[in-house]
Amino acid sequence: MIAGIDLGTTNSLIGVMDSGFPVLLAGENGSRLTPSVVHFPEGDAPPLVGASALRMRALDPARTVSSVKRYIGRRFGELDAAERSAPFAVERARDGGILIGPRRLSPEQVSAILLGKLRSDAECTLGIEMRRAVITVPAYFNDARRQATKEAGRLAGFDVERILNEPTAAALAHGLDRGGERRRVAVFDLGGGTFDISILELHDGVFQVVSTNGDTRLGGDDIDAALVSFLHSEWSVPHDDALLLARIREAAIGAKHRLSDSQDTVLRLPFASGTSREMALDRAVLENLARPILARARPCCLRALSDAGLAAGEIDDLLLVGGATRMPMVREFARDLFGVDPLTDSNPDESVALGAVLQGGILSGQVTNALLLDVTPLSLGIETFGGLMNVLIPRNTTIPVKAGELFTNAVSGQSAMQIHVLQGERELARDNWALGRFDLPFVPAPKGGARVGVQFEIDADGILRVLARDTATGLEKVVEMKSAVDVSDEAVERMISESVEHAFEDVEARRFAETRQKSADLLGAVRTALTKADALLEPGERDRIEVLAARVGAALAAEDAPALAAANLALDESTRDLAARLLDQAMETALKRRGIL
Ligand code: ADP
Ligand code: MG
Repeated sequence: MIAGIDLGTTNSLIGVMDSGFPVLLAGENGSRLTPSVVHFPEGDAPPLVGASALRMRALDPARTVSSVKRYIGRRFGELDAAERSAPFAVERARDGGILIGPRRLSPEQVSAILLGKLRSDAECTLGIEMRRAVITVPAYFNDARRQATKEAGRLAGFDVERILNEPTAAALAHGLDRGGERRRVAVFDLGGGTFDISILELHDGVFQVVSTNGDTRLGGDDIDAALVSFLHSEWSVPHDDALLLARIREAAIGAKHRLSDSQDTVLRLPFASGTSREMALDRAVLENLARPILARARPCCLRALSDAGLAAGEIDDLLLVGGATRMPMVREFARDLFGVDPLTDSNPDESVALGAVLQGGILSGQVTNALLLDVTPLSLGIETFGGLMNVLIPRNTTIPVKAGELFTNAVSGQSAMQIHVLQGERELARDNWALGRFDLPFVPAPKGGARVGVQFEIDADGILRVLARDTATGLEKVVEMKSAVDVSDEAVERMISESVEHAFEDVEARRFAETRQKSADLLGAVRTALTKADALLEPGERDRIEVLAARVGAALAAEDAPALAAANLALDESTRDLAARLLDQAMETALKRRGIL
């Protein structure tokens, strides 16, 4: 089982696949969102993490680290003045890195504390150990920041299976990977403290980040701050009362959230002195405060579009991600800017985590209908009766993947089965590409008596292993083919266009091959019946059957599909009575042998 984790600037989430569905797990406080905040008490008591740490932020800002994601994987020299003057210590490490908080930890170490909390809460809920994880990062994170995030995961005891881009995760959560054709997706992510806009291109199930832009100082926090300062002047409260300010902020955030669902709300603030303040607030007031803040997202979006070489109208899907996109005004803003109706879900702050969980499911093989990143470019299968292609793994299947099927022998007394491994989209084996062939010996059996299991397994690196096993003897062979994924785009395109071009004749060819197989089966059965049932035959019956059998033979020789199908049918019908008599006779013999008759 692989956990999916959204390690956010403001909030973090963790989830797992459960019976085929991605589920996010609630933390200690009952919410699926764990605030990305760590409070370090005096002395060496263990840190508080999440909601309890967030409560301590107002009381003890110097000992409470938040937004550690802003620092992870960066050099002290890269930090701007605002980043250096956080409410908690931010210092240069001896190696030029960063140390933060009262215990002078690296951002990786602080992030590891957050991840450790997510992990232990999840383990508590599920009652199992959690070792593997997929962790998301913004698309613009450079290699150092991705490596540092991976390191944080390692410090928290995870094997980090993949670092996944947040916009890609969001697209995955919306199922956009399943749209076959080329799509352009804009992911508009407005969180607590950061705004990210990413343009993705989806092509045959593979997402590519085409451009990114954003503002690392733009988010829901800014709207909170604007509302707090508005309340401040309305209520004229003193500026130096940290606790009071914190309570106003908390009340303001609550009101902001309520105004996403209703037009007005009442903001209440009970003062310690016994008097309390109340204020009716309507959405328009909040929107007036938020409008200039939101406007800062516009140039970022326009730049992302122009970097991608696109105009606003050329976006196919607009995804809204991040808690702040719950505000109706933000949705309208994005729709107007990109000229498409956004795809929203009811919990926009959960889609990145859901995507991470799905990616974990893909990596562990629990999700097989998604087409992300690594997919089989062409179908894989083996040659079966009549020279037909039998597909075991269809084209565009996410790897790693395992699939198998049971085959039997077409001819009596056959002592080996040839496994002819094919790649391609055509119906006939000979029109596809041969990846390899080998023989699997088995104990000679009557036609249809042998059972050979063939299993294809493609690992994460695209290597195809073919296993064939005679189920009677357990004898098996495993043969490694060359990469099943490493096919040039032109070759794939050629194969697909040929399969479209020849679709009709291919279907005809398959039908003929199947009819021919049926004829062979039928002629064999008729021959056996005629030799066994001499005494049961009615006058003239043998001649009638022989004539119809000869007609099948003629149609076969002429490769005339419709005539063959008709001849098969006639022959089948002519032997029906005989078959019934043969069955009665067999029953009688069996009952007699047991002394019943
Ligand atoms: P991040 O990605 O930065 O970790 P989130 O996606 O969790 O953050 O977004 C957090 C922001 O979303 C906060 O500013 C929070 O106030 C805001 N938010 C959450 N719910 C709502 C809501 N119902 N209406 C408006 N803003 C909301
Ligand atoms: Mg986020």
